[in-house]
Amino acid sequence: MIRRPLAIEANKAKNCPLCTIDLNKEKVFWEVPAFVIMRTKDLKGHRERIMIVYKAHRHEIPYEAYEAALDALIKIGKKVFKYAPKFVIMDSTFATINEHWHLVATDLDPKAVDFDQILKTKWIKVIDPNWD
Ligand SMILES: [Zn+2]
Repeated sequence: MIRRPLAIEANKAKNCPLCTIDLNKEKVFWEVPAFVIMRTKDLKGHRERIMIVYKAHRHEIPYEAYEAALDALIKIGKKVFKYAPKFVIMDSTFATINEHWHLVATDLDPKAVDFDQILKTKWIKVIDPNWD
């Protein structure tokens, strides 16, 4: 299969594992030229754990792009987390990825290995996937 790196040549950084990640090997839920929503590499014991990533190797995004990205993550999250009573979009304070702007969405399974960390993290939004 053809490799499909996350970042296009003009926007990528050398030695960045995310820029060079092969999207053809990832579970991609949604994609536009600037962003991709995919399953996180480490599920941390959750049935689903997803993130929206800014494809360009940049830490900051314009506010309008932030709003659009948040809307997309809510829309896709409502489908992906249909099995859960709630899911949350977390602030990136404890993020292990620092080079790319991104947001993680997760269910609230108390048996997940990162449950304590989820409780310590600021939640940008709490969503009930079965409500409009
Ligand atoms: Zn990068």
